[in-house]
Amino acid sequence: MSVSELLRKNNVDILRFTWVGLDGLIRSKGAYVDEVDSLVKTGIGLTMAMMSFTPMDYISPYGSFGPQDEDVFLKPDLSSLSIFPPSAMVLCYLYKGDSPWTFDPRSLLKSKLDKYNEYESKSSFEIEFYLVKDKKPYDDARCFDSRAYYTNQIIPEIAKTAKSVGIIPLRVIKEYGPGQYEFDILHKEAMRSADEVVIFKEIARQVASKYGVEANFMPKPFNKMAGSGLHLNFSIWKGDKNLFFNSNDKYGLSDLAYNFIAGIIEHAKALAAISAPTINSYKRLVPGSWAPTKITYGYNNKSAMLRIPTPYPGMSMQDRRIEYRVPDPTTNPYLLLSAFIEAGMDGIERGLKPPTPVNENAYYRKDIEDIPRNLREALQELKKDTRLVERIGKDIVEEFIKVKMAEVEEYESLVTDWEYEVYRYV
Ligand code: GLU
Ligand code: MG
Repeated sequence: MSVSELLRKNNVDILRFTWVGLDGLIRSKGAYVDEVDSLVKTGIGLTMAMMSFTPMDYISPYGSFGPQDEDVFLKPDLSSLSIFPPSAMVLCYLYKGDSPWTFDPRSLLKSKLDKYNEYESKSSFEIEFYLVKDKKPYDDARCFDSRAYYTNQIIPEIAKTAKSVGIIPLRVIKEYGPGQYEFDILHKEAMRSADEVVIFKEIARQVASKYGVEANFMPKPFNKMAGSGLHLNFSIWKGDKNLFFNSNDKYGLSDLAYNFIAGIIEHAKALAAISAPTINSYKRLVPGSWAPTKITYGYNNKSAMLRIPTPYPGMSMQDRRIEYRVPDPTTNPYLLLSAFIEAGMDGIERGLKPPTPVNENAYYRKDIEDIPRNLREALQELKKDTRLVERIGKDIVEEFIKVKMAEVEEYESLVTDWEYEVYRYV
Protein backbone atom coordinates (compact mmCIF):
# COMPACT_ATOMS: atom_id res chain seq x y z
CA MET A 1 0.00 0.00 0.00
CA SER A 2 1.33 3.47 -0.82
CA VAL A 3 1.80 6.06 1.91
CA SER A 4 -1.13 8.13 0.59
CA GLU A 5 -3.39 5.07 0.64
CA LEU A 6 -2.40 4.36 4.23
CA LEU A 7 -3.14 7.94 5.22
CA ARG A 8 -6.51 7.95 3.43
CA LYS A 9 -7.48 4.69 5.07
CA ASN A 10 -6.95 6.39 8.41
CA ASN A 11 -8.63 9.65 7.38
CA VAL A 12 -5.42 11.61 7.73
CA ASP A 13 -4.93 14.55 5.36
CA ILE A 14 -1.48 15.80 6.22
CA LEU A 15 1.80 13.95 6.73
CA ARG A 16 4.37 15.79 8.84
CA PHE A 17 8.00 15.53 7.69
CA THR A 18 9.63 15.83 11.09
CA TRP A 19 13.13 16.56 12.35
CA VAL A 20 14.84 17.71 15.54
CA GLY A 21 17.49 20.38 15.17
CA LEU A 22 20.16 21.44 17.65
CA ASP A 23 17.74 23.39 19.84
CA GLY A 24 15.76 20.21 20.57
CA LEU A 25 12.42 21.56 19.34
CA ILE A 26 10.46 19.06 17.26
CA ARG A 27 9.79 20.73 13.90
CA SER A 28 7.79 19.57 10.91
CA LYS A 29 6.87 20.53 7.40
CA GLY A 30 3.50 19.18 6.30
CA ALA A 31 2.63 17.56 2.97
CA TYR A 32 -0.93 17.22 1.79
CA VAL A 33 -1.98 13.63 1.11
CA ASP A 34 -2.27 14.17 -2.68
CA GLU A 35 1.42 15.14 -2.83
CA VAL A 36 2.79 12.66 -0.36
CA ASP A 37 3.79 9.78 -2.65
CA SER A 38 6.07 11.90 -4.75
CA LEU A 39 7.46 13.90 -1.80
CA VAL A 40 8.49 10.82 0.16
CA LYS A 41 10.74 10.03 -2.83
CA THR A 42 12.18 13.47 -3.54
CA GLY A 43 12.16 14.87 0.00
CA ILE A 44 11.04 18.37 0.92
CA GLY A 45 13.30 21.42 0.77
CA LEU A 46 13.89 23.61 3.81
CA THR A 47 15.04 27.16 3.50
CA MET A 48 17.97 27.96 5.74
CA ALA A 49 16.74 31.49 6.40
CA MET A 50 14.08 30.07 8.68
CA MET A 51 16.42 27.67 10.46
CA SER A 52 18.81 30.35 11.69
CA PHE A 53 18.74 32.95 14.43
CA THR A 54 15.84 35.31 13.90
CA PRO A 55 14.94 38.38 15.90
CA MET A 56 11.47 36.90 16.55
CA ASP A 57 12.53 33.68 18.16
CA TYR A 58 14.31 32.89 21.41
CA ILE A 59 15.65 29.60 20.16
CA SER A 60 16.85 28.42 16.76
CA PRO A 61 17.94 25.05 15.45
CA TYR A 62 21.02 26.51 13.72
CA GLY A 63 23.00 29.72 14.06
CA SER A 64 25.45 29.90 11.20
CA PHE A 65 23.18 29.81 8.19
CA GLY A 66 21.11 32.44 6.47
CA PRO A 67 19.06 33.35 3.41
CA GLN A 68 22.15 33.10 1.19
CA ASP A 69 22.61 29.38 2.02
CA GLU A 70 21.45 26.57 -0.19
CA ASP A 71 18.34 24.62 0.95
CA VAL A 72 18.65 21.38 2.85
CA PHE A 73 16.27 18.50 2.18
CA LEU A 74 14.08 16.50 4.49
CA LYS A 75 14.50 12.89 3.39
CA PRO A 76 11.96 10.71 5.16
CA ASP A 77 12.90 7.41 6.73
CA LEU A 78 9.73 5.41 6.12
CA SER A 79 10.58 2.91 8.85
CA SER A 80 9.54 5.68 11.25
CA LEU A 81 6.18 6.42 9.61
CA SER A 82 3.70 6.77 12.47
CA ILE A 83 0.00 7.24 11.90
CA PHE A 84 -2.00 8.24 14.97
CA PRO A 85 -5.14 9.89 13.66
CA PRO A 86 -5.98 12.64 13.22
CA SER A 87 -2.28 13.14 12.53
CA ALA A 88 0.72 11.33 11.06
CA MET A 89 4.47 11.91 11.00
CA VAL A 90 7.64 10.52 9.50
CA LEU A 91 11.14 11.23 10.83
CA CYS A 92 13.64 12.59 8.34
CA TYR A 93 17.33 12.86 7.65
CA LEU A 94 18.52 16.30 6.59
CA TYR A 95 20.40 16.15 3.32
CA LYS A 96 22.51 18.71 1.51
CA GLY A 97 22.66 17.67 -2.12
CA ASP A 98 23.27 13.94 -2.19
CA SER A 99 24.80 13.52 1.23
CA PRO A 100 23.67 13.71 4.82
CA TRP A 101 24.08 17.22 6.18
CA THR A 102 26.94 17.58 8.69
CA PHE A 103 24.67 19.41 11.13
CA ASP A 104 21.87 16.85 11.25
CA PRO A 105 21.75 14.93 14.56
CA ARG A 106 19.79 11.99 13.12
CA SER A 107 22.33 11.52 10.32
CA LEU A 108 25.07 11.84 12.94
CA LEU A 109 23.61 8.99 14.99
CA LYS A 110 23.29 6.87 11.85
CA SER A 111 26.96 7.47 11.09
CA LYS A 112 27.95 6.41 14.63
CA LEU A 113 25.90 3.20 14.44
CA ASP A 114 27.51 2.43 11.04
CA LYS A 115 30.97 3.21 12.41
CA TYR A 116 30.56 0.76 15.31
CA ASN A 117 28.59 -1.82 13.37
CA GLU A 118 30.46 -4.74 14.92
CA TYR A 119 28.29 -4.01 17.94
CA GLU A 120 24.60 -3.34 18.34
CA SER A 121 23.71 -0.52 20.69
CA LYS A 122 20.40 -1.03 22.47
CA SER A 123 18.70 1.65 24.44
CA SER A 124 15.51 2.50 26.19
CA PHE A 125 14.18 5.66 27.73
CA GLU A 126 12.14 6.41 30.84
CA ILE A 127 10.07 9.41 29.80
CA GLU A 128 8.80 11.68 32.59
CA PHE A 129 6.42 14.59 32.00
CA TYR A 130 3.66 16.63 33.58
CA LEU A 131 0.06 16.99 32.52
CA VAL A 132 -0.65 20.69 32.88
CA LYS A 133 -3.83 22.73 32.73
CA ASP A 134 -3.82 26.54 32.90
CA LYS A 135 -0.12 26.44 33.79
CA LYS A 136 -0.82 24.24 36.86
CA PRO A 137 -0.41 20.49 37.45
CA TYR A 138 -3.48 18.71 36.10
CA ASP A 139 -4.14 16.66 39.24
CA ASP A 140 -3.11 16.40 42.88
CA ALA A 141 -2.33 12.68 42.75
CA ARG A 142 0.72 11.62 44.74
CA CYS A 143 3.45 9.17 43.86
CA PHE A 144 1.89 5.81 42.85
CA ASP A 145 -1.55 7.26 43.79
CA SER A 146 -4.12 4.78 42.52
CA ARG A 147 -6.73 7.43 41.74
CA ALA A 148 -4.61 8.67 38.86
CA TYR A 149 -5.32 5.47 36.94
CA TYR A 150 -9.10 5.81 36.86
CA THR A 151 -9.87 9.49 37.22
CA ASN A 152 -8.03 10.43 34.09
CA GLN A 153 -8.56 9.22 30.52
CA ILE A 154 -5.45 10.86 29.12
CA ILE A 155 -2.76 8.50 30.36
CA PRO A 156 -4.46 5.26 29.18
CA GLU A 157 -5.10 6.89 25.81
CA ILE A 158 -1.45 7.93 25.46
CA ALA A 159 -0.45 4.32 26.28
CA LYS A 160 -2.86 2.86 23.74
CA THR A 161 -1.84 5.30 21.01
CA ALA A 162 1.87 4.69 21.65
CA LYS A 163 1.28 0.94 21.42
CA SER A 164 -0.62 1.39 18.14
CA VAL A 165 2.52 2.78 16.46
CA GLY A 166 4.82 0.10 17.90
CA ILE A 167 6.10 1.89 21.00
CA ILE A 168 5.83 -0.62 23.85
CA PRO A 169 5.13 0.93 27.24
CA LEU A 170 6.43 -1.49 29.89
CA ARG A 171 5.45 0.58 32.94
CA VAL A 172 3.09 3.48 33.36
CA ILE A 173 3.85 5.26 36.61
CA LYS A 174 2.24 8.04 38.58
CA GLU A 175 5.44 9.89 39.40
CA TYR A 176 6.31 11.98 42.41
CA GLY A 177 5.01 15.40 41.35
CA PRO A 178 1.29 16.24 41.17
CA GLY A 179 0.24 15.70 37.55
CA GLN A 180 3.57 13.99 36.79
CA TYR A 181 3.75 10.65 34.96
CA GLU A 182 6.41 8.31 33.62
CA PHE A 183 6.37 5.86 30.74
CA ASP A 184 9.12 3.24 30.59
CA ILE A 185 9.60 2.11 27.02
CA LEU A 186 10.90 -1.29 25.90
CA HIS A 187 14.55 -1.25 24.80
CA LYS A 188 15.26 -1.41 21.10
CA GLU A 189 18.05 -0.77 18.64
CA ALA A 190 19.40 2.76 19.35
CA MET A 191 18.01 4.64 16.32
CA ARG A 192 14.50 3.32 16.87
CA SER A 193 14.62 4.12 20.55
CA ALA A 194 15.63 7.73 19.78
CA ASP A 195 12.80 7.97 17.23
CA GLU A 196 10.37 6.66 19.82
CA VAL A 197 11.17 9.53 22.18
CA VAL A 198 10.21 12.03 19.48
CA ILE A 199 7.10 10.11 18.42
CA PHE A 200 6.04 9.62 22.04
CA LYS A 201 6.27 13.34 22.80
CA GLU A 202 4.12 14.11 19.76
CA ILE A 203 1.54 11.49 20.76
CA ALA A 204 1.38 12.67 24.39
CA ARG A 205 0.90 16.27 23.26
CA GLN A 206 -1.76 15.35 20.71
CA VAL A 207 -3.78 13.20 23.14
CA ALA A 208 -3.50 15.70 26.01
CA SER A 209 -4.55 18.61 23.79
CA LYS A 210 -7.73 16.75 22.91
CA TYR A 211 -8.66 17.10 26.60
CA GLY A 212 -7.60 20.74 26.77
CA VAL A 213 -4.45 19.71 28.64
CA GLU A 214 -0.76 20.17 27.86
CA ALA A 215 1.84 17.39 28.07
CA ASN A 216 4.83 19.29 29.41
CA PHE A 217 8.36 17.89 29.02
CA MET A 218 10.27 20.71 30.70
CA PRO A 219 12.93 19.41 33.11
CA LYS A 220 11.61 21.62 35.93
CA PRO A 221 8.25 23.14 35.07
CA PHE A 222 7.31 24.16 38.63
CA ASN A 223 9.14 25.57 41.64
CA LYS A 224 9.74 23.10 44.45
CA MET A 225 8.14 20.15 42.62
CA ALA A 226 9.86 17.11 41.15
CA GLY A 227 11.70 17.53 37.87
CA SER A 228 11.19 15.41 34.77
CA GLY A 229 14.05 13.24 33.57
CA LEU A 230 14.67 11.12 30.51
CA HIS A 231 16.84 8.36 31.93
CA LEU A 232 18.74 6.46 29.27
CA ASN A 233 19.23 2.70 29.69
CA PHE A 234 21.98 1.33 27.52
CA SER A 235 23.79 -1.89 26.62
CA ILE A 236 25.91 -3.22 23.77
CA TRP A 237 25.12 -6.52 22.07
CA LYS A 238 26.58 -8.92 19.56
CA GLY A 239 23.82 -11.10 18.14
CA ASP A 240 21.84 -12.33 21.13
CA LYS A 241 24.72 -11.82 23.55
CA ASN A 242 24.75 -8.84 25.88
CA LEU A 243 28.40 -7.72 25.98
CA PHE A 244 27.79 -5.73 29.17
CA PHE A 245 27.06 -8.95 31.09
CA ASN A 246 29.52 -11.10 33.03
CA SER A 247 28.15 -13.60 35.54
CA ASN A 248 31.40 -13.65 37.55
CA ASP A 249 31.25 -10.02 38.47
CA LYS A 250 29.55 -8.93 41.69
CA TYR A 251 27.54 -6.38 39.70
CA GLY A 252 27.05 -8.70 36.73
CA LEU A 253 29.05 -6.35 34.52
CA SER A 254 31.73 -7.17 31.97
CA ASP A 255 35.10 -5.42 31.56
CA LEU A 256 33.68 -3.83 28.44
CA ALA A 257 30.86 -2.33 30.51
CA TYR A 258 33.37 -1.00 33.08
CA ASN A 259 35.45 0.58 30.31
CA PHE A 260 32.30 2.14 28.89
CA ILE A 261 31.28 3.47 32.33
CA ALA A 262 34.78 4.92 32.77
CA GLY A 263 34.44 6.72 29.42
CA ILE A 264 31.14 8.27 30.53
CA ILE A 265 32.69 9.37 33.82
CA GLU A 266 35.75 10.79 32.03
CA HIS A 267 33.56 12.91 29.72
CA ALA A 268 30.69 13.51 32.18
CA LYS A 269 31.04 17.29 32.39
CA ALA A 270 31.01 17.75 28.62
CA LEU A 271 28.18 15.25 28.17
CA ALA A 272 25.99 17.26 30.54
CA ALA A 273 25.68 20.05 27.96
CA ILE A 274 24.13 17.62 25.48
CA SER A 275 22.09 15.56 27.97
CA ALA A 276 20.73 18.55 29.90
CA PRO A 277 20.79 21.20 27.17
CA THR A 278 18.53 23.98 28.47
CA ILE A 279 18.73 26.71 31.10
CA ASN A 280 15.85 24.94 32.83
CA SER A 281 17.68 21.58 32.89
CA TYR A 282 19.98 22.67 35.70
CA LYS A 283 17.08 23.56 37.99
CA ARG A 284 16.26 19.84 37.93
CA LEU A 285 19.79 18.64 38.74
CA VAL A 286 19.70 19.44 42.46
CA PRO A 287 20.43 17.35 45.59
CA GLY A 288 17.67 15.18 47.00
CA SER A 289 15.57 15.12 43.82
CA TRP A 290 16.67 11.71 42.48
CA ALA A 291 18.17 13.61 39.60
CA PRO A 292 21.96 13.34 39.81
CA THR A 293 24.44 16.02 40.84
CA LYS A 294 27.60 13.93 41.31
CA ILE A 295 29.84 12.30 38.73
CA THR A 296 29.80 8.73 39.96
CA TYR A 297 28.18 5.35 39.49
CA GLY A 298 26.60 2.92 41.89
CA TYR A 299 24.59 -0.21 42.34
CA ASN A 300 20.91 0.75 42.31
CA ASN A 301 21.91 4.22 43.51
CA LYS A 302 19.42 6.86 42.39
CA SER A 303 21.65 9.65 43.60
CA ALA A 304 24.45 8.59 41.22
CA MET A 305 24.87 9.79 37.65
CA LEU A 306 25.07 6.19 36.43
CA ARG A 307 22.94 3.58 38.12
CA ILE A 308 23.35 -0.14 37.71
CA PRO A 309 19.76 -1.30 38.26
CA THR A 310 19.20 -4.15 40.72
CA PRO A 311 17.96 -7.30 39.03
CA TYR A 312 14.36 -7.88 40.01
CA PRO A 313 12.86 -11.37 40.45
CA GLY A 314 12.61 -13.07 37.09
CA MET A 315 14.88 -10.57 35.37
CA SER A 316 17.51 -12.26 33.31
CA MET A 317 21.05 -11.16 34.13
CA GLN A 318 21.37 -10.96 30.36
CA ASP A 319 19.43 -7.73 30.74
CA ARG A 320 22.38 -6.00 32.41
CA ARG A 321 22.47 -2.37 31.41
CA ILE A 322 23.61 0.95 32.69
CA GLU A 323 21.22 3.78 33.40
CA TYR A 324 22.45 7.31 32.69
CA ARG A 325 20.30 9.67 34.77
CA VAL A 326 21.43 13.11 33.62
CA PRO A 327 19.30 13.41 30.44
CA ASP A 328 16.00 15.23 30.50
CA PRO A 329 13.28 15.37 27.84
CA THR A 330 14.65 18.58 26.27
CA THR A 331 17.68 16.68 24.97
CA ASN A 332 17.97 15.88 21.29
CA PRO A 333 17.94 12.06 21.59
CA TYR A 334 20.04 11.58 18.42
CA LEU A 335 22.77 13.92 19.59
CA LEU A 336 22.56 12.41 23.08
CA LEU A 337 23.09 8.85 21.87
CA SER A 338 25.85 9.90 19.45
CA ALA A 339 27.76 11.66 22.24
CA PHE A 340 27.09 8.92 24.80
CA ILE A 341 28.30 6.19 22.45
CA GLU A 342 31.46 8.16 21.57
CA ALA A 343 32.25 8.84 25.25
CA GLY A 344 31.77 5.17 26.13
CA MET A 345 33.75 3.99 23.10
CA ASP A 346 36.61 6.25 24.14
CA GLY A 347 36.60 4.38 27.46
CA ILE A 348 36.61 1.04 25.64
CA GLU A 349 39.35 1.95 23.17
CA ARG A 350 41.61 3.35 25.90
CA GLY A 351 40.78 0.57 28.36
CA LEU A 352 39.79 3.13 31.02
CA LYS A 353 38.88 1.87 34.50
CA PRO A 354 36.19 3.54 36.58
CA PRO A 355 36.76 4.70 40.17
CA THR A 356 35.15 2.73 43.03
CA PRO A 357 31.36 2.70 42.87
CA VAL A 358 29.38 4.68 45.41
CA ASN A 359 26.57 2.74 47.00
CA GLU A 360 25.36 5.36 49.46
CA ASN A 361 23.65 8.71 49.09
CA ALA A 362 26.09 10.62 46.87
CA TYR A 363 24.51 14.07 47.07
CA TYR A 364 26.60 15.33 49.97
CA ARG A 365 29.85 13.53 49.23
CA LYS A 366 32.40 16.36 49.02
CA ASP A 367 35.05 14.08 47.53
CA ILE A 368 33.08 13.46 44.33
CA GLU A 369 33.05 15.98 41.50
CA ASP A 370 29.89 17.83 40.57
CA ILE A 371 27.98 17.79 37.32
CA PRO A 372 28.11 21.37 35.93
CA ARG A 373 25.76 23.72 37.78
CA ASN A 374 24.35 25.57 34.82
CA LEU A 375 24.23 25.51 31.03
CA ARG A 376 26.99 28.10 30.56
CA GLU A 377 29.38 26.00 32.67
CA ALA A 378 28.35 22.81 30.86
CA LEU A 379 28.94 24.38 27.43
CA GLN A 380 32.37 25.58 28.54
CA GLU A 381 33.19 22.04 29.69
CA LEU A 382 32.04 20.64 26.35
CA LYS A 383 34.20 23.10 24.45
CA LYS A 384 37.22 22.19 26.63
CA ASP A 385 36.80 18.45 26.08
CA THR A 386 38.46 18.47 22.67
CA ARG A 387 38.90 14.70 22.61
CA LEU A 388 35.15 14.14 22.88
CA VAL A 389 34.33 17.03 20.53
CA GLU A 390 36.58 15.53 17.84
CA ARG A 391 35.06 12.11 18.33
CA ILE A 392 31.48 13.35 18.03
CA GLY A 393 32.20 15.73 15.13
CA LYS A 394 33.76 19.17 15.56
CA ASP A 395 31.44 21.07 13.20
CA ILE A 396 28.16 19.90 14.66
CA VAL A 397 29.33 20.31 18.27
CA GLU A 398 30.61 23.84 17.63
CA GLU A 399 27.28 24.73 16.03
CA PHE A 400 25.47 23.26 19.03
CA ILE A 401 27.56 25.36 21.40
CA LYS A 402 26.83 28.47 19.33
CA VAL A 403 23.06 27.88 19.34
CA LYS A 404 23.01 27.11 23.05
CA MET A 405 25.31 29.95 24.11
CA ALA A 406 22.92 32.36 22.35
CA GLU A 407 20.15 30.94 24.53
CA VAL A 408 22.27 31.46 27.66
CA GLU A 409 23.09 35.05 26.71
CA GLU A 410 19.46 35.87 25.98
CA TYR A 411 18.40 34.46 29.34
CA GLU A 412 21.16 36.14 31.30
CA SER A 413 20.12 39.51 29.88
CA LEU A 414 16.55 39.23 31.22
CA VAL A 415 15.38 40.42 34.62
CA THR A 416 13.28 37.80 36.43
CA ASP A 417 10.35 38.25 38.85
CA TRP A 418 12.49 36.74 41.58
CA GLU A 419 15.09 39.47 41.21
CA TYR A 420 12.45 42.18 41.37
CA GLU A 421 10.90 40.68 44.50
CA VAL A 422 14.15 40.11 46.31
CA TYR A 423 16.14 43.17 45.34
CA ARG A 424 13.59 45.95 44.99
CA TYR A 425 14.34 47.51 48.38
CA VAL A 426 17.96 46.58 48.78
N1 GLU B 1 12.20 12.69 38.48
C1 GLU B 1 13.57 12.26 38.73
C2 GLU B 1 14.50 12.93 37.72
O1 GLU B 1 14.26 14.05 37.39
C3 GLU B 1 13.70 10.75 38.67
C4 GLU B 1 12.81 9.98 39.60
C5 GLU B 1 13.05 8.49 39.41
O2 GLU B 1 14.06 7.99 39.87
O3 GLU B 1 12.26 7.86 38.70
O4 GLU B 1 15.46 12.37 37.26
MG1 MG C 1 10.91 8.06 37.43
